Amino acid sequence: MKMERRFWLVLVLALLLAGCKGGQQAGSGGSAAAAPAQSFRWKMVTSWPANFPVFQEGAERFAREVEQMSGGRLRIQVYAARELVGPLEVFDAVSQGSVQMGHGAAYYWAGKVPAAQFFSSVPFGMTARAMASWIYHGGGLELWNELYAPFNVVAFPLGNTGVQMGGWFNKKIESVDDLQGLKMRIPGLGGKVLKAAGGNPVLMGGGDLYTALERGTIDATEWVGPFHDLRLGLQRAAKYYYYPGWHEPGSMLELAINRTAWESLPEDLKTIVRVAAEAETLHMYTQFETLNLKALEELKEKYNIEVLEFPPEVMTKLHQLTRQVLAEEAAKDPDFRRVHEAYQAFRARSDAWSRISDEAYERALQAE
Ligand code: CA
Repeated sequence: MKMERRFWLVLVLALLLAGCKGGQQAGSGGSAAAAPAQSFRWKMVTSWPANFPVFQEGAERFAREVEQMSGGRLRIQVYAARELVGPLEVFDAVSQGSVQMGHGAAYYWAGKVPAAQFFSSVPFGMTARAMASWIYHGGGLELWNELYAPFNVVAFPLGNTGVQMGGWFNKKIESVDDLQGLKMRIPGLGGKVLKAAGGNPVLMGGGDLYTALERGTIDATEWVGPFHDLRLGLQRAAKYYYYPGWHEPGSMLELAINRTAWESLPEDLKTIVRVAAEAETLHMYTQFETLNLKALEELKEKYNIEVLEFPPEVMTKLHQLTRQVLAEEAAKDPDFRRVHEAYQAFRARSDAWSRISDEAYERALQAE
C-alpha cells in the first residue's frame, strides 16, 4: 500500500516536471517549491571611491545582476571606500563578518597575507589571459581559497585591469642609471623592485598624485591605464608616458565573501553569485580594454603626449631584480613560497603555449 502511494506520487511529480519544461512556473500542484524561499540582505564594501569608473561601477552592476537573477532573494547593498570601512580594511571586515562581501584587490592585504599578491598581480607576472586560465582551470582558485581558509574568507575573481601602463615621468628613462634616486609612486612588489634598482618608491593615494607630480614632490607615478590616468589629469602633470606596466601586467580584482555567510546560501544562490562574478570579470576586463584604447587615442591626438617604450636594458634589469625580490619574499614566508612555485609552474606552461599561439601570431602580423 505504502509502495503503491509512492509510485503514484513519483508519477505525478514526473508529469508535473515534464509540464514545467518550457520554463513555466509550477502550478498549485507543485510540491518541492511549496516551502517559501529564504531571502538574504547582504552588505558589500569596496576599496574604491564612490562612482570610481569600471571598478566601483562593476561592483554595483554585479550586485544588481545578482539581485535580478535571484528574483530579489539575494540583495547586496554596495558601500564605497570609507562609507563603512577604509579601502584597505575590506578584507578584515569580510573576514570578521561585519559585512558579507568585499571588492578589492588581493595585493592590498599583502601585510596580512603576503602570498595574496599572486592573486592580483606581481611584477613580470601573468597577463589577464594567463591569470584567468590559472585561476579557473589550473588550480589557482583552489590555492587562493586554501590561503584564505584560516581567515574564513572565500574568494573569486571579479574583474581584471589588463596590462597597466608603466607610468608618467618628468624625465626620460633611457638607461638603468636614470632609475637612480627616481622618486616614484609605485606600491607593493613593484616598489620593492624599483628600490632594488636604486630608485625611491613612494606610497601615495590616487587623490594626491596629480599635485605631487605637478609640484615635483615626486618624479614619476604609475596609476592604472590610459582611461583612469586621463581622468586623473596626469597628462597635465608630466611629459612622458611609458609602457608597458611591467609591475602590473594584469591585475585581477577580488570578490571576497565571508565563508560562514557563503555557506548559509542555498546552492542556486551560490551558483548565481559564482556565475555573475565570472560574467562581471569578463565585462570589466573588456571594458578596461575598450576605454583604454579610446583614451590612448585622446592622449596622443588631443594632448600630444609622448608615449614611450622602456628600453630593453631597463626591462631586463627590472626583470632580473624581480626574480631576486620574489626569492627574498619566498624565503620569509612558506605560503608565499608555495604559491610562488605553483604560479611559476603554471606560468612556464602557459608561456610555452603562448609563444606558439598569441606571440607567434603577433609576429606574423608584423612580418607582412
Ligand atoms: Ca597601478
